[in-house]
Order: sequence, then C-alpha cells, then structure tokens
Amino acid sequence: MIFQDSQKIVEFMLNFQGLFDVIRVVDPMSRKVVEYFEREPFLQGGHCYDYWKNGVLCANCISSRAFLQEDTFVKIEYNKDKIYMAMASPVILPEHTYVVEMLKDVTETGIVPDMERKTIDEINGIIEMLNLEIVTDELTQVYNRRYINEQLPTELYDAATEGLPLSVIMMDIDHFKAVNDTYGHVCGDEVLKTFSSVIRSVVQEKDGWVARYGGDEFLVVLPNTGPQEANTAAQDLCSALAGREMGCTGRKICATVSVGTYTVMGQALNVEELLARVDQNVYRAKERGRNTVVSD
Ligand code: GH3
Ligand code: MG
Repeated sequence: MIFQDSQKIVEFMLNFQGLFDVIRVVDPMSRKVVEYFEREPFLQGGHCYDYWKNGVLCANCISSRAFLQEDTFVKIEYNKDKIYMAMASPVILPEHTYVVEMLKDVTETGIVPDMERKTIDEINGIIEMLNLEIVTDELTQVYNRRYINEQLPTELYDAATEGLPLSVIMMDIDHFKAVNDTYGHVCGDEVLKTFSSVIRSVVQEKDGWVARYGGDEFLVVLPNTGPQEANTAAQDLCSALAGREMGCTGRKICATVSVGTYTVMGQALNVEELLARVDQNVYRAKERGRNTVVSD
C-alpha cells in the first residue's frame, strides 16, 4: 500500500486500534521510531529497540527483515511486566520505505505460564526459547529453512554494507536414500541427528551458523569468511564426519557427503542467486564421484 507520509500510515492503522495495543512507524535504516500510537503511552521516542532492550539492538530484528524482504515478520518480546506479539510489515511511501510495527499485549494468554512467580531472567529465557523454536528444525535441532529465509538476506546486506566476504557451504549426504532403504527411516533419522550435531560442533568454533536446507541437505553460513577459509572449513567438516559411526545401535553406518562452497565478495547477488551457485557446486561434487568439496 502506498501512503503520502508516515502520519497517514498511523491514521490508517488507527482503524485497527482494537486489534493492537501499540502501532508505530519505524525507519528501518536508522531504526528510529518516526510515528507512534499506543493506548497507554510510555514510549518517549528514540530507537525502536529502546522499547525492549535498553539501548541494545535486537538480534532478531523483524523490522530490518520486513524492509529487506518486503514481507511480514512476527516475534514475541517482553517489556517490563508485559509480553507482546510483535508484527512488522513494510510500507512503501513515494520517497521512502518504512516499517509498521504492530504490538499486541498477549500477557494474559498464558503464553508464559505462572508468569507472576517467575523472575525477569526466567521470563526472558522462556521468550527466547519460544522465538528459537520457531526457527529450529525439530528433528536435528539446527536452524530450519525459515531461519535461512529470514537471516540470509540480512547476512548478505551486512556483508555488502561493511565490505566483508560472506561464505556459504552446502552439504548433501551421499546415497542417503540407501540408508533409509537398508536400515529404515528411524535409523535414517538418527544419522541426520548425529550428522547435524557433528556439523554444529565444527561450526561453533568458526562463528557461523548451521541450518537444515531440506531432507539430507544442510547449509553452513560463515560471515566475514573468504573463499580459502571456506574451503578449509568444508574440508574440516568432511574430516569430522569421515569415519564417524552414525545411526541406530548395533549398526555401523559411515555417511559421506558432497559439499559445495561459494563466497560473495562484492558481487550483487540476492539469496536465490547465492543458493543457486552453491547448489551448482554441490551438483559438481556429486558428478565428480561424491565425497568431495567443490569451491568456486
Ligand atoms: P545423492 O547421493 O545423490 O544425494 O542421493 P541420495 O540417496 O542422498 O538422494 P537424495 O539426496 O535425492 O534424497 C534424499 C533422501 O533423504 C530422500 C528421503 O527419503 C530422505 N529424507 C528426507 N528427509 C528425511 C528425514 O527427515 N528422515 C529420513 N530418515 N529420511 C529423509
Ligand atoms: Mg543426498
């Protein structure tokens, strides 16, 4: 929807005031609140994150995601003694794109049980866990596809604005279908779990993150990492997996993996293009006989 100015956005949003407790218009670049409305005013202007974090930028900033991906994002936040469901949507003005944030007090819904008997740290811990569950793959406990969709555009944007390289590693287990066919799906699930925990322990030391891209494919994202380092990290991952026994007890299953890496260093690539290039390298690794790394 296109508005002439930010005040008009608030006027429009006030039509929905029964649905939300706070409506504010945020400039996603400066993260300043430019307009706001709330039933019980206690926000004195300033940055959007001042509302939650006492001057610290939110790690899970939904406004910058809404701006970068032109889509709506949701999270749960805690402010003093209240819990809010926060929703951020981009709004395009002739000269500028803003983000409208709509906050709904959900304290009474029991989203955090026995809240009055919990400390602030306990409540923050539960909320952090709820937000984490949304972006975690249930089986393997690494991040899920949703996290890739939400986080990778931000990583690309940060790398471009800071002039830093960004590397991605994609891994696809070799002949995984045969593991399922031979040992059953339950055993296959165990292989996926062990596989993920090995990758996670290697990546933890490298300041990156791991996500399940789908089925037996995993993505490792390494900010501020050049092509040489990415290739070394991919070799490290293969070494950590090699010879590692996985799967159900009493079976000795050693899975190998085909790996592609790709590094963005100044090229103007979007997420789809980046994933297509790294996927192409995985394909080349498969063509070369599997159990190998192909870098750009
Ligand atoms: P390639 O070497 O070419 O990668 O062959 P592949 O056998 O690994 O085949 P492919 O990657 O095309 O297929 C992945 C298989 O992973 C197919 C599917 O049955 C299995 N799979 C996907 N998700 C799960 C899961 O959650 N649990 C289990 N046990 N298997 C899964
Ligand atoms: Mg496979």
